[in-house]
Amino acid sequence: MPNIVVLGAGVSGLTTAYLLSKDPANKITVLAKHMPGDYDIEYASPWAGANYMPVGKQGTDHERWERETWPYLKEITEKYPEAGIHFLGTLIYNRKKDQESDTGKWFAELTQPDPWYKDVVPDFKPIPNEKLAPGVDNAQEFTSVCINTAVYLPWLVGQCVRSGAVVKRAVIKHIADAANEHHTGQKADLIVNCTGLSAKTLGGVMDSKMHPARGQIVVVRNDPGPMASVSGTDDGETECLYIMTRAAGGGTILGGSYQKHNWDPLPDPNLANRIMKRAIALDPSLVKPGQGIEGLDIIRHGVGLRPLREGGTRIEKDEVNGVKVVHNYGHGGFGYQASFGCSVEAVALVKEALQSGPRAKL
Ligand code: FAD
Repeated sequence: MPNIVVLGAGVSGLTTAYLLSKDPANKITVLAKHMPGDYDIEYASPWAGANYMPVGKQGTDHERWERETWPYLKEITEKYPEAGIHFLGTLIYNRKKDQESDTGKWFAELTQPDPWYKDVVPDFKPIPNEKLAPGVDNAQEFTSVCINTAVYLPWLVGQCVRSGAVVKRAVIKHIADAANEHHTGQKADLIVNCTGLSAKTLGGVMDSKMHPARGQIVVVRNDPGPMASVSGTDDGETECLYIMTRAAGGGTILGGSYQKHNWDPLPDPNLANRIMKRAIALDPSLVKPGQGIEGLDIIRHGVGLRPLREGGTRIEKDEVNGVKVVHNYGHGGFGYQASFGCSVEAVALVKEALQSGPRAKL
């Protein structure tokens, strides 16, 4: 009966705990500073849209994680409406002039006309050239999902708790200290590190490759229907444009920005204005005919920091001060759409690590 501590209750920690908790042999404690229900700049997961817009380059681990995640999201959407995910049509627009911008590079795989994901998502089809708006070089549509993170994260907590996991608040200074926080009072056999951007400052990890990609959003009550994303904007290389309506009354997310190395937790009112104007220009059905941004019914402005990692997500075995660790962090802007692929891999490493004895001393 291994004692496992999952450190972090964002989508990465909760998905890993959810999969681990399916094996009744695992005794799991989920430990975190922030929990579903909290809104904090150190906690990325509540700020996400979130939808499934694959961005992993073909042939990479990232592609595999996103490819493997779709069937799980599809199954949850179909079987568990209470999880707060719904299917939604989406439109993707590509402008070649965005190719060299940060947002254009981020969306390069998503926007290319013949992407690997065309056989993964349902109803993929290109939009004929004669239907493209001026300035758009190619476009496609498919059926994706939109996750109401305010419903989905608590649903994941519920699944874990129902399977016997114990969820606790704690702030950990050093990764090895998490081993002393297992709910049984015994020392944990293994820690899964799902601390997102905080892996940069967590003792025993201190990953200098971590940095934020700041995302500013406006959440509104208006409901335009399908989702839409564009490769870039004319308002600056770090600003982007996407619209998605969350399931189960979650409102519509208007985005956004992709500002690397920017830690500012406060919404910038000028950027908020540009986000709202761009959204209405892209989809005038957001407001009544003739209306501008005054036609938007704002629920809240928000800022989240995407936990980006130079060189890619870290899913790897480690040992810190004699404590076994499996890392699963650094999911940038794709933590939901790669959540199951990444967590399945982390769970496999947990099994491997628990089967191997302590590392021999040299
Ligand atoms: P987090 O959610 O940040 O969770 C980290 C957890 O670790 C928290 O519980 C925290 O309290 C805990 N923790 C950290 N340090 C400590 C410590 N020392 N002691 C105790 N606990 C600690 N992804 C998509 O797939 N689709 C989208 O549409 C999408 N849209 C996005 C839009 C925006 C505006 C933003 C900001 C992100 C978006 N993302 C999207 C990305 C996604 O939100 C992230 O990749 C994901 O939330 C990262 O989750 P995480 O669990 O790794 O980290």
